[in-house]
Order: sequence, then structure tokens, then C-alpha cells
Amino acid sequence: MTRARARRIDALLCRLMAGLIGAATALSCAAADFDYQLAPERIADGVYVLVGRTEDFSFDNGGNIVNTSFIVGDSGVTVIDTGSSKRYGEQLRAAIARITPLPITLVINTHHHPDHFLGNQGFATAILAATPTTTHGIETEGPAFLDNMYRLNGDWMLGTEVVVPGATLEPGRIDSGGRKLEILTFDGHTASDLVVRDIRTGTLFASDLVFNGRAPTTPHADIATWLEALDRLQQIPFSHLVPGHGAIATDTRPIEQTRRYLQWLSRTIAEGAEQGLDMTEMLEKPVPAEFAGLAVVDKEYRRSVVHLFPQAELAALRAASARKAMASPTFEHIAK
Ligand SMILES: [Zn+2]
Repeated sequence: MTRARARRIDALLCRLMAGLIGAATALSCAAADFDYQLAPERIADGVYVLVGRTEDFSFDNGGNIVNTSFIVGDSGVTVIDTGSSKRYGEQLRAAIARITPLPITLVINTHHHPDHFLGNQGFATAILAATPTTTHGIETEGPAFLDNMYRLNGDWMLGTEVVVPGATLEPGRIDSGGRKLEILTFDGHTASDLVVRDIRTGTLFASDLVFNGRAPTTPHADIATWLEALDRLQQIPFSHLVPGHGAIATDTRPIEQTRRYLQWLSRTIAEGAEQGLDMTEMLEKPVPAEFAGLAVVDKEYRRSVVHLFPQAELAALRAASARKAMASPTFEHIAK
């Protein structure tokens, strides 16, 4: 029996017990059960990553589909992203305490997607930091994300609330817990995507600008801008590359993979719109063999078509009517 199935059966037994014995027993039962089994992986001196599954949100994974990280400095710990739920944030904090007694001094939300900030409750609000755009995104879109995450992950989300970062991050070098970090700001995956480079080890935390072995998500993407960000990112030297989702790398292959997928996606959608295909025809298009091995690719492709194709259709219509106007004689031409 898989661990996920065993957990589901345990959870069902818990609910049954709740009905028979009462709410107090059910709560203690659930708390013992909902364990993400977080295991920080040390990838460089003082640098730890918790690699999530390359899946979509579900009750089976409880939303643990994201990479979170922490850097142990000389006097404090910097956390990069907080996971998908209150439980994740609390379990991340506990996992850090098992590695070091140093205090957590800074917690960064790289962007406003729910798997990167819904664990904020595990940490003090004053040390939660993000760019002003990300903070605004969490404030305005956070409640809707939270509703959706309860729907997808069920009781794993119990007690989770949106916590807006209390501090602001600007690009540049900072000293965080006795460790020099470079804060780099990009956009394209969302309106603000923050990247962190640990100067001591050269570890580059690329946030969701880079996916490795999993199809990129695009609900807030501007693909042209994202491609520019990848070009800039590829110029930055690193020892380890930590993508937002998928395995850690020591080379630029995940950047190239993300770039090729986005180029194909954008070209496919633009060409479909120019050819006058409809949404159903677009959804039925096969994913090329090069990307067929990416986790969740069928689902992400369809999701991307649903939110990107209407804009592409509009752009194709505008381009066609502009061409038509150029071809027709204007009043000015006739007058001459
Ligand atoms: Zn994201």
C-alpha cells in the first residue's frame, strides 16, 4: 500500500472516530496524521532544500508540490517560500529547528502563488518579506487562492489563513543572518518573481521562473517577458540551481527546458489563433514528444490554452483587421 493511500485510509478512520467519539479526539487524530514528512536536503554549506512532488495539488500530497529552502547563516536563518498550508509552514519551522538552534530572521515569499506563501502562519509576520507587487498580489488574490486550496487539498489546509508579509524587499545585496544574499527581481511567471543568490555558495534560487521535469504553470504569465527573464537568468553564474518545482540542478538544462516549452506553447497558441482554430481544436492538439515526459503536461497545456488562447484570438483578429485596412483604399488615397 502506498503511503498516500495509507494516509487517506487513516484520515477516513479519523473522521469515523470523530462521528463516534467527538470532535476533540478527531482533532488530535488529524494532527498526528497530517505530516508532510519534510526532509531538508543539504545541497551546499548551510543551504537546505525541501523538494516537493512534481504533481498537481491533491489530498494525497496535501499541497506539497513546491520546493522551499532555507539558508543557515552565522547568526540567523533565511527561509525562501513557506509552502502550501499552515501545517506546512509549521512543519518547515520544526524541520529547521532540528537542523539549527539559530533564530529565523527573514522569510521570503518569491511570488504570490499560494504554494509559496500559505505557510506564512508558521513564522512571525514582521520577518515575512516580499516585493511590493507580490505583497499586493497576496492581499488581493490570496483569499480566492485559499478557497481553491481548501477545495483541492481538503483537511490539510485546516486553520490556514492568508498572512500578508510585513516587510519589503528591494533588489540588491543584503546581509541576512550573517549571510550575504543577492536579491534579484524579475517578472514573467507573475508580475513579480524574486530570485535569490547565496553569495557564499553560489546557489541560485530561481523561484517559478524555472521548472524542472514538470510543465510550467501560466495563470499569471506574460510569456514574452518570462523568456526575457530566462535569458537574464542564464547569464548568472551558479553552483546549484533550485527551481520552483522539480529536481535541483547543477547546470542550465532546466532553464533551457523551461524556455523551449514556453516557446512551443506561445507559438502553438499564436499559430492556432491565426489559423482560426477554436478552443476545442486547440485543447485536442497533441503535446510534442520532447515535452511528453514532463509531469502534469497534459493538464498544464490545457490550462494554459484556456487562459492564453482568448488573448491570442483577439490579437489575431486585430492583426487581420489592420491588414485589411492597409489593403483598402482610404478616403485620402481616393481624393488624390
Ligand atoms: Zn508560481
